Amino acid sequence: MVAGAGLAGLATAVWLAQAGHRVTLVEKRGRLGGRTISFEVPGIEGRVDNGQHLFAGCYEALLRYVDTIGSRDKLLWDVPPFAIKTGPDHLLTLRAPRWLPGPLRRAVGLSWMVWPPIPLRERPAALRTWARIARAALRPAPELDDLTVDRWFRQIGAPESLRALVLDQFVIGLLNEKTERVSASMFVQTLHWIGKRALSGNTRAGDAVWPRVSLHELFVAPAERYLRAHGAQIVVGVGVTDIEILDDKLTGVRLSDGRTIEVDAAVLTLPPWSLTTLLDRGRLGQYDHFTPVRKIEPAPISSVYVWLDRPLGMRRLAENLRDTTIEWVFDTTGMHGVETEAGHCYSLAVSASWDVVHLPNAEFTAAALESLAKHYPEAAEAEVLRTHVIHQPQATFSAQPGFDELRLPQRTPIEGLFLAGDWTETGMPSTMEAAAESAVRAVDAVGDHLGTTAPPSDTSD
Ligand SMILES: Cc1cc2nc3c(=O)[nH]c(=O)nc-3n(C[C@H](O)[C@H](O)[C@H](O)COP(=O)(O)OP(=O)(O)OC[C@H]3O[C@@H](n4cnc5c(N)ncnc54)[C@H](O)[C@@H]3O)c2cc1C
Repeated sequence: MVAGAGLAGLATAVWLAQAGHRVTLVEKRGRLGGRTISFEVPGIEGRVDNGQHLFAGCYEALLRYVDTIGSRDKLLWDVPPFAIKTGPDHLLTLRAPRWLPGPLRRAVGLSWMVWPPIPLRERPAALRTWARIARAALRPAPELDDLTVDRWFRQIGAPESLRALVLDQFVIGLLNEKTERVSASMFVQTLHWIGKRALSGNTRAGDAVWPRVSLHELFVAPAERYLRAHGAQIVVGVGVTDIEILDDKLTGVRLSDGRTIEVDAAVLTLPPWSLTTLLDRGRLGQYDHFTPVRKIEPAPISSVYVWLDRPLGMRRLAENLRDTTIEWVFDTTGMHGVETEAGHCYSLAVSASWDVVHLPNAEFTAAALESLAKHYPEAAEAEVLRTHVIHQPQATFSAQPGFDELRLPQRTPIEGLFLAGDWTETGMPSTMEAAAESAVRAVDAVGDHLGTTAPPSDTSD
């Protein structure tokens, strides 16, 4: 049994089914997808996502999942997502001739970061900061988990100008948390694994990859079809309420519809805040092993989708704004490549949106439109046809100092019971890749337990 049908649960179920296991997938909500869902908005053709999701060429486990369910053709590969907009006419982005070969084009194109457009006297300190960051990322030190990124940047003398232009937003973009709250260790570990994948031959590790369809069509519907074709049972609207344990061995799983199902193995892929409820109410709470999960806190993301009667003339599919409420403008219509009658759709997002997550929709929308007006002259002429606000207070986990200690491995002290989910041990931030990587590890552990080898394959079948 796999409990929870977010990406971690879907990938675990798909790969277990692929390995020939008889899988039951149980999801508490009425639909599959977890934090990667899409829904219908009245008057809009197709589905709207719960927020723009970006993934990178280094998301190898997620790409493997996409390959297994056969939806790689629904991805749009782009150059690295560095596009900093400091004003209507100023965009710092990849600047290199297109004819240069891939890796060289990226290196040349992003070389401005080494000598960034900040006051000249601060550039040597900026260079030293990059060198310190690179050195720390080479061998992440566990002590960094005692510090926030903000404190660490101060310690290494990162100039304020570099922080304001590049660094702080880079951290927020990677970790969905403010520099004053997030662990320096998480930042450095993230750079470490991206760098490792780049150096191991993945020349597109740092590239952006955009969904060309809704998250539902990319991740969820193909997985559902795959599972049904492989004989899996899918149960929605029913949650796990307790675990049956005898002599530290899993014997069954109790469900909210009153049934108890006997299983050979169960993988719980619930987010930390849902697992905490299970600890409070059920037998798992008796095991100290799970206690750390209670301390994991969520972090919010807020978005407003805006449909305009014309495009804004963006140079990149995603641009990172400075000095406005909105941090990211994503050209959703540009990514999907289809203009609809509803107008040209943009997703305007704020990561770690502590400052705006409680704003009423009208106030947040007004601030978002003001951000657009400040950076895009075309916005002044454009008619706003429709808007749709989505505040997600529990979008990701918040990797505060001490977070390394709170992550649990996929194997548990209870024989036959396993965990997966973006928050479990992977060394990665709260991302779709962490969810998929946790599934790789959980499937491996289940395979060991059941005496089968069940490595996720990288081809669709
Ligand atoms: C707005 C937004 C933007 C994001 N942007 C990005 C991005 O750009 N790039 C990126 O990589 N990541 C991004 N993320 C993060 C990414 O979506 C998550 O890290 C990932 O989807 C987590 O997957 P998961 O399977 O671990 O958890 P979830 O998706 O939360 O899945 C857990 C599932 O368990 C179910 N459940 C809970 N309790 C029970 C129970 N008792 N019984 C059965 N089922 C239960 C839940 O309903 C849920 O479906 C974003 C997230 C949000 C919300």
